[in-house]
Amino acid sequence: MKRVYIAMGSNLSAPEEQLHNAVQALAQLPNTTLAGVSAFYQSDSLLPGQPRYTNAVAALDSTLAPIELLDALQAIENDQGRERLERWGPRTLDLDILLFGDWLIDEPRLKVPHYQMHLRAFVLYPLAELAPASLQLADGRTLSDLLAACPFVGLERLTPAESHQ
Ligand code: ATP
Ligand code: MG
Ligand code: MG
Repeated sequence: MKRVYIAMGSNLSAPEEQLHNAVQALAQLPNTTLAGVSAFYQSDSLLPGQPRYTNAVAALDSTLAPIELLDALQAIENDQGRERLERWGPRTLDLDILLFGDWLIDEPRLKVPHYQMHLRAFVLYPLAELAPASLQLADGRTLSDLLAACPFVGLERLTPAESHQ
């Protein structure tokens, strides 16, 4: 069994509701237990001209193979109306695998750790609610090293009421 962290993001069609629905879907994945969900955060889009994003991180314990999990996550994205019109375009739901245990995966469809997680405050701060600061990435850096290099800028942590929880 592996501890897996999933980054969730939405900036279309009621983003908070999209994330709540995604959490329900993750909880129903086969051979998988939902171990935790961070608070919801809002952040400005990395690309100008898009609605603000709502982001969160979920922790799973799973015996699925990484590609099986990716297939399942993409099925959830599709069920929630994800359309792929342009790279990094606005989306109803994005589910990215951040970490899969301590595995390094470099396949055409799947790179883990996620290639930009260390640069994204909207990933690192919710992840830090679920994972220990001593969590080590493959290059030896810890989550606390990554947080120290990634300021909490442009990010707003939503209260449970604002997250419609
Ligand atoms: P970014 O990867 O910069 O966050 P994105 O999430 O918008 O961008 P998508 O359109 O969701 O990108 O996914 C593009 C492809 O990335 C997917 O088809 C998938 O095969 C691949 N991919 C590679 N590594 C991962 C990963 N760790 N988690 C999810 N998808 C991944
Ligand atoms: Mg993404
Ligand atoms: Mg994605």
